[in-house]
Amino acid sequence: MRILKILFVGALVSLAAASACAAEVVVYSARNEQLIKPLFDAYSKESGVQVKFITDKEGALLQRLRAEGQNTPAELLLTVDAGNLWEAAREGLLKPVASQTLNANVPAHLRDPGSQWFGLSVRARTIFFNQQKVKPADLSTYEDLGSAKWKGRLCLRTSKKVYNQSLVAMMIAEHGEAKAEQVVKSWVANLATEPFPDDTKMLEAIAAGQCDAGIANTYYFGRLMEKKAGLALGIFWPNQQGSGVHVNVSGAGVVRHARHEKEAVALLEWLSSARAQNLFADVNLEYPVNPAVKADPLVAAWGGFRQNPLNVARAGELQAAAVKLMDRAGYR
Ligand code: FE
Repeated sequence: MRILKILFVGALVSLAAASACAAEVVVYSARNEQLIKPLFDAYSKESGVQVKFITDKEGALLQRLRAEGQNTPAELLLTVDAGNLWEAAREGLLKPVASQTLNANVPAHLRDPGSQWFGLSVRARTIFFNQQKVKPADLSTYEDLGSAKWKGRLCLRTSKKVYNQSLVAMMIAEHGEAKAEQVVKSWVANLATEPFPDDTKMLEAIAAGQCDAGIANTYYFGRLMEKKAGLALGIFWPNQQGSGVHVNVSGAGVVRHARHEKEAVALLEWLSSARAQNLFADVNLEYPVNPAVKADPLVAAWGGFRQNPLNVARAGELQAAAVKLMDRAGYR
């Protein structure tokens, strides 16, 4: 009887041990399922590690991590901008990762100086214009879109979108609040129409001639041009003599209470590797973060550009100030 009991307990222990080291990583992702599933499938095939994930909006995922605390099943948090990763780190939801692989694969300005999160793809927010009404020579900088010649010709997406909050935050980092506010006010004064709910609608308005120029992420342009070839939309890289093009990242960090920390770090490292970077970036027409990896040919055809070298963490640090500034400037 006693031997049976020992055998039974032994079996339980080995079962527990087996499930404790079952190779599995749980990801909370703000990146759409269709963008990450192929990637995770490839990783599972290669490593034998199962990747489970849920997708939701960033706010909801952060709320979930806060509420779950140390009981969270999450091991990796994946978002589509640096501001939310910065916020997660600030709240203590992530933990630092010391990895030479990540430090080598991800340029310093595209990861947290405290190593709590790492960019995995670059999202460039640049200027688009109607080719029938604007010549590239008419364009120069984001700031210049506020000059008198653009009166009644500018389109913008809503200031509620984190992409524009990050753009304005980076302008504060560069110019200080007073000058950044002047610029945003001058944009608002030049608007052809109310701000748009998304980048695609704004780009369509430019193509339709409702306005002449505006600011959007390049992958929306790529998607639109794939769907409707022949639109009179041009792409322009601003601030090439100065601060460079505003970039943000889609990136990830290891959750503070991750149970499979080693596996989570391994997945994060793999996502930054040459073999995964094209899968990660190309599927959404973004730029690989790893400088050793070439962009998708369709993306590369838009030409090279100089990125703003400020650390994208600044977008998080100054996000609240940017939101207030845009409100003061009447940017809705
Ligand atoms: Fe987007």
